[in-house]
Amino acid sequence: MTTRPRGTMAWLRDHDEERVHAYFGSREQWAAIGGWAGFEEPRPPRTPTYLDHGYDEDKDPAQWTGHDLAAAAAFRGGELLSPAPEDIRTAVKWRCGLGHVFSGSPFLILLGGHWCPECVRDPAGYSRQAEHNRFLVQLLD
Ligand SMILES: [Zn+2]
Repeated sequence: MTTRPRGTMAWLRDHDEERVHAYFGSREQWAAIGGWAGFEEPRPPRTPTYLDHGYDEDKDPAQWTGHDLAAAAAFRGGELLSPAPEDIRTAVKWRCGLGHVFSGSPFLILLGGHWCPECVRDPAGYSRQAEHNRFLVQLLD
């Protein structure tokens, strides 16, 4: 399939530089990938670990305060911009470490694990986001 007209190897063979650039970045970046001889199969650790979500997960969500929500936001490098709502399913405003303002309920953010909808669409920027987002650091290690 890769050598068929819409395949990645066909783009290289046929000097379709526009597609090579869009998919690999450049012909040089493709060449830097290397062959299978140097490929190492990912071997995740066999010992389960827990992620730190930046707040006390043993605390009853009905008891969450503005401090709990702000601490969870700070752990992700951002901040809570609204007062804590009465109901954890009520949307409030947050700002991520890159300055994007978005809405989400404490339920969605803390229990659902969601965060900035702009940043999550930029996987190539995860390393840069991890400079201020301690939650993300755990996932990239
Ligand atoms: Zn963001």
